Amino acid sequence: PLTTADLIDEHRICVCVRRRPLNKKELAMKDVDVITIPSKDVVIVHEPKQKVDLTRYLENQTFRFDYAFDDSTTNEMVYTFTARPLVETIFERGMATCFAYGQTGSGKTHTMGGDFSGKNQDCSKGIYALAAQDVFLMLKKPNYKKLDLQVCATFFEIYCEKVFDLLNCKAKLRVLEDRKQQVHVVGLQEKEVKCTDDVLKLIEVGNSCRTSGQTSANAHSSRSHAVFQIILRRKGKMHGKFSLIDLAGNERGADTSSADRQTSLEGAEINKSLLALKECIRALGRNKPHTPFRGSKLTQVLRDSFIGENSRTCMIATISPGMTSCENTLNTLRYANRVK
Ligand code: ADP
Ligand code: MG
Repeated sequence: PLTTADLIDEHRICVCVRRRPLNKKELAMKDVDVITIPSKDVVIVHEPKQKVDLTRYLENQTFRFDYAFDDSTTNEMVYTFTARPLVETIFERGMATCFAYGQTGSGKTHTMGGDFSGKNQDCSKGIYALAAQDVFLMLKKPNYKKLDLQVCATFFEIYCEKVFDLLNCKAKLRVLEDRKQQVHVVGLQEKEVKCTDDVLKLIEVGNSCRTSGQTSANAHSSRSHAVFQIILRRKGKMHGKFSLIDLAGNERGADTSSADRQTSLEGAEINKSLLALKECIRALGRNKPHTPFRGSKLTQVLRDSFIGENSRTCMIATISPGMTSCENTLNTLRYANRVK
């Protein structure tokens, strides 16, 4: 029987998985597809070439989530089932978070729309843009219009437990906790936005800032968490906040023994923060009074999103379908499975 805790859980946390198609590189190296999504909420990881007998698959390689999206799913559809229901939360004075979790190259940035250049067609919009669009639509509704809300945005990244402002030339920021346990990112730029285009421009600014001075854009972004926030303010006071997070690649766990000291340090920090994140989401789902938010910088800056009656979260775990990614894919699925 369902308990009250289950109902809270159900309501507050949505966990889904999205697979991408095999890419050109994988096809060229004759990688094989090991992922099957037989129904809208099941993911099966199977042996290559083995014909999947759906009645006899191995139990430990079958995972059930709120939703499982196959490679025909568009960003728009993923958005509709994950982040979209959370837009209302922030209008109702709540805190919402949406995470993209997975191995580098599995589709996190594609899903969130962090690579949106402004030149692309509407259909390539990611969750950042789609959420912003809905925020401005909601603002026009009579109930919310009368609140006279102001919309602001922040964009920062967390790399090796340090916070950098992507809307202010990567200024390094300090995180302080006051006596009431309120967490402040000191000096974080918060820009007012009046329309979706304003938001897209900020994302472009943030992304170019994020990748400047890097030899390889992806190499760096895969090791840091990017946090984009849409904040509603009423008479200057925070009314609601939506944090959309493109997490660091989760594949570095195995890399912690790396000979390269920096890489191994990065791997350890990423591991730590992803573990802390799991614990905080689990605490939220179980309505626990204590949230272990001090476990990492990421969970610390998101503290106010993990506490309170009206906090909701969704996680989109992205997976690569190839045999060569099998180990990472299983790790991703197990993690996503444990979050709820
Ligand atoms: P990540 O941010 O997880 O490292 P990316 O979002 O950069 O991964 O995706 C890696 C590559 O795969 C990109 O070229 C991206 O366009 C492509 N890709 C990712 N997800 C999809 C998808 N669902 N459909 C088509 N292409 C995708
Ligand atoms: Mg990325």
